[in-house]
Amino acid sequence: MYERVYNFYPGPATLPLPVLEAARDELVNFQSSGMSVMEISHRSKQYEALQNDTADRLKRLLKIGDNYKVLFLQGGASLQFAMVPMNFLTPDKTADYLVTGSFAEKAADEAKYFGQVHTAVNTKEENFRRIPDPAELKFSPNPVYVHLTSNNTIYGTQWHTFPDCGDVPLVADMSSDILSRPFDVKPFGLIYAGAQKNLGPAGVTIVIIREDLLAKANPNLPVMYRYETFVKHNSLYNTPPTFSIYMVWLVLKWLEEQGGVEAIHKRNQEKAALIYDVIDQSGGFYRGHAEKNSRSLMNVTFRLPSTELEEKFVRAATEEGLIGLKGHRSVGGLRASIYNAMSYEGCKALADFMKDFLAKNG
Ligand code: PMP
Repeated sequence: MYERVYNFYPGPATLPLPVLEAARDELVNFQSSGMSVMEISHRSKQYEALQNDTADRLKRLLKIGDNYKVLFLQGGASLQFAMVPMNFLTPDKTADYLVTGSFAEKAADEAKYFGQVHTAVNTKEENFRRIPDPAELKFSPNPVYVHLTSNNTIYGTQWHTFPDCGDVPLVADMSSDILSRPFDVKPFGLIYAGAQKNLGPAGVTIVIIREDLLAKANPNLPVMYRYETFVKHNSLYNTPPTFSIYMVWLVLKWLEEQGGVEAIHKRNQEKAALIYDVIDQSGGFYRGHAEKNSRSLMNVTFRLPSTELEEKFVRAATEEGLIGLKGHRSVGGLRASIYNAMSYEGCKALADFMKDFLAKNG
């Protein structure tokens, strides 16, 4: 057997063990081809079938209609910060941004290169510890889209209901919570997500785009910056990150075996509750960064009474095989990233460790 730890890194993040084992088992001979999936031409029928099946599975899992296209891109979510406004924003038009974290802020900053950016809300002064109420959102009169970050990885906050923007398409960075819960896709014109948290390894970025929005894209862009290129060529205009896409395929198959998005959501709620309950019952020893009703099911952020205790916590947790718990430097403290692939047992082990640490140090 292997030595596997409980890995709470924020991304790249833990992957389901059966996925890693399946990849290992057919690493040198993919589906009886006599070749590794890494060695197969992206122009081969076998590869294209794999990629198409990956897109189909994603559409089924997210229950998205045929008016959406699933694209496989590179450049991470960070390239999408620029590619979205490059395609849809012009100097005479405005896009609205809901700034609930530093990735949302980066996305808004990139959009400024292409057109007017209206910040409909910004919770930075409160160190992004909450998701705003609908009444706080001050939209511009006629935005081309409204951009939000569904889960703020660094701060541990998550939109639990998405704002109603009528006919204005929502654009969402779902890098850190895609496929973790069901949601109605219809208001979304575009969704993007780097794979390395809930979908697979780094290297591929998923873009889901609605046809009516696609039709409005700027055609006068370099070919690799146009969504249209990837739609027209089935994400095979140039060489896609084939191995990463194969890994996403395995993760999606695994997710289907788990019962799909509804089932994983239920488990994610149970997992997060284990840790939040310890925080809430610690008499103030553990202090959550996020406001209670903004709490994320994916990233649990909390502080201890002193930085010395926080360092001691990380050291002791590491010794117990609980890895990657140090928080992001802009929040400090601890962060447990508990994406779909983190088991209930892993969350239970962390919750038990936290109780024990409190008993010894509280
Ligand atoms: N958006 C969110 C919500 C993220 O969590 C991250 C990565 N931590 C990014 C964007 C940046 O993603 P990438 O590194 O794939 O560019």
